[in-house]
Amino acid sequence: MCFLECKNDKMTNKPSILLIYTGGTIGMIKDYKTKALKTFDFSQIVDKIPELQQLNCKIKSISFEEPIDSSNMNTKYYVDIVEIIEENYQKFDGFVVLTGSDSMSFASSAISFMLENLQKPVIFTGSQLPIGDLRTDAKENLITAIEIASATKNGAPIINEVCLYFEYKLYRANRTTKISAEQFEAFASMNFPPLAESGVHLKFHEHLIHQPKKTANTLIVRKKLVDDVVFLKIFPGISDIVVKSILNIPNLKGVILETYGAGNAPNSENFIQLLKNAINKGIKIINVTQCESGRVLMGHYDTSLLLKKIGVIDGKDITSESAVAKLMYLLNENLSTEDFKCFFEKSLRGEITDISFLKV
Ligand code: ASP
Repeated sequence: MCFLECKNDKMTNKPSILLIYTGGTIGMIKDYKTKALKTFDFSQIVDKIPELQQLNCKIKSISFEEPIDSSNMNTKYYVDIVEIIEENYQKFDGFVVLTGSDSMSFASSAISFMLENLQKPVIFTGSQLPIGDLRTDAKENLITAIEIASATKNGAPIINEVCLYFEYKLYRANRTTKISAEQFEAFASMNFPPLAESGVHLKFHEHLIHQPKKTANTLIVRKKLVDDVVFLKIFPGISDIVVKSILNIPNLKGVILETYGAGNAPNSENFIQLLKNAINKGIKIINVTQCESGRVLMGHYDTSLLLKKIGVIDGKDITSESAVAKLMYLLNENLSTEDFKCFFEKSLRGEITDISFLKV
């Protein structure tokens, strides 16, 4: 890890922000020989954006020694990120985490679960074009993410949760999905509105933003995630042998079952029996919709009634990215079957919309 300081560090009574650079396009340059994008020394990022010196905050930065493309992100890197935040939690007023956009929704969702009782902003951002590109989106994303991380009201931070800022919108991180490989508007939060929007003014929608409890609980950092999990996406024609093979992966502890519409799946005897056997072995199966928006409503159709009966857990309106993160987090908590279901089905970090009146 290396620490760098911005020149405006000398001024003291301003919020201090730690930039954590893990890699991704935002810090990449083009190798003009091979035409491929490659990571470069993060110290140059401050040179590339001299505007950073004008922000009304103190900025320090820390970088992964070997920055990664976010396709190489994994749970060990999640731990590296939360450890940097933990070590610097008292010293800084806010954190901006720069990662590649490809797996940013997964990483930021996971980190929202790993940081409990967060009372400071942790803002993920990145870009579609490298910082040195003429038409780059990196400058706006980075500058506004820093502004958001340093925004206060009555002396307290406005944001106290893990967010993702991209192309003029601030989202709750665990509600996001990457929706475009080429548009600057690369992310969406289909089941929850943006927490802030950047236009001529930076507008916070305060009624949507998480408000921490008045009695300040200390930050708890969860560093153990269980990665014996798998996605099982249903499609017409999926065979029993495929389902059986997936559910028999040695050591498997959890499955994100990506179903149709409001949580529907084949109700053939074989398919249900395979799921039932897995549940009886202690494997947690979470029902998450393949749809971009909306929610699972188990029991609404005949094709989800049996899932409910055999003990499949209701993912409600959680994203797949957030569901896998929550699964990895809760699997380490040694919960009884009932408690696991209860914790999974309720909102822990704002990742689920509670609409209990819709229960069937
Ligand atoms: N492949 C890059 C990454 O996710 C893309 C990006 O940075 O947006 O690391």
